[in-house]
Amino acid sequence: MFTTTIAGSLPKPAWLAEPEKLWAGWRLEGDALVDAQRDAALVWIREQEDAGIDIATNGEQFRVHFVHGFLQHVEGIDWNLMTPMGIRDNRYIVDVPTVTAAVRRPAPVHDDEVRYTRARVRGKLKFTLPGPMTICDTIADAHYGRRADMAMAFAALLNDEARELEALGVDVIQFDEPAFNVFMDDVAEWGMAALERAADGLKCKTAVHICYGYGIDENVRWKQTLGAEWRQYEKTFPVINDSRIDQVSLECANSHVPMSLIRLLPDKEIMVGVIDVASRDVETPEQVLSVIDEACRHADVERVLPCTNCGLAPLPRSIAVHKLAALGQGARLARKKRGLA
Ligand code: ZN
Repeated sequence: MFTTTIAGSLPKPAWLAEPEKLWAGWRLEGDALVDAQRDAALVWIREQEDAGIDIATNGEQFRVHFVHGFLQHVEGIDWNLMTPMGIRDNRYIVDVPTVTAAVRRPAPVHDDEVRYTRARVRGKLKFTLPGPMTICDTIADAHYGRRADMAMAFAALLNDEARELEALGVDVIQFDEPAFNVFMDDVAEWGMAALERAADGLKCKTAVHICYGYGIDENVRWKQTLGAEWRQYEKTFPVINDSRIDQVSLECANSHVPMSLIRLLPDKEIMVGVIDVASRDVETPEQVLSVIDEACRHADVERVLPCTNCGLAPLPRSIAVHKLAALGQGARLARKKRGLA
């Protein structure tokens, strides 16, 4: 009961990349880089275990960017043809690579890191992949012509990758779809279909993570424009509830999302964000407990999985460690309160 997990990413140690910087480049290369990534993953596996996180990740220590980490291994993308794009509906303008031919995955992308991680995580292991809609909002298209078509092409590649990772012993495959909170009409039109294609045939648990982004300035400013109540989920939850995806990861701690919206997910496990990633203040276990309790007013307790709002990557390492501990302790309080521990 109250199985704990995290959205995915954790800070890179200073030996691996510049701390407190999102998408910082590597400090090493070649075999030394692989060793350093493995060492960093090992640190975070241990930290999650110590904190009582039941479903662990490798902290995304093997990728710089949550979308490009996969795309860098896909053919059909021209990384020299960078196109300025207002991604997430113009929330930030960034130069993105361009799809210039049919996309193809010539070889498995994440198998080495998953083999390494699987052998070292004693409990359940989650692996995160970018969702097809979010990929299409992070890359320019000079080949497919329609975002929906490009999403389906990427979904097929993601599905091949996900099936291989499942075979390596991953317990939960999570697709990160922050774009679901931006293009709500497209979710019903083609986003959910593409996501289901990516998850097709998987027997392990499948999850979708839908947040309001990392705690960076662009996102903090965007959130200030969303009004007193954030109701983006209201449009997409009914579509998600009708899908075959098992778990939904949401931003709840310190957000303006009315918790009652989780009533629109009666058939899903809900990863309730109880840790704010946009604040350096470490939650107390009691604060975590209060978000869990609030979720339990709207969902059966067995479907509530305490989680972080989003990745902890941009935070100082020590703060992330304390936030993991607060998550574990808050879940323990929730179990105790119900006589389950
Ligand atoms: Zn997120």
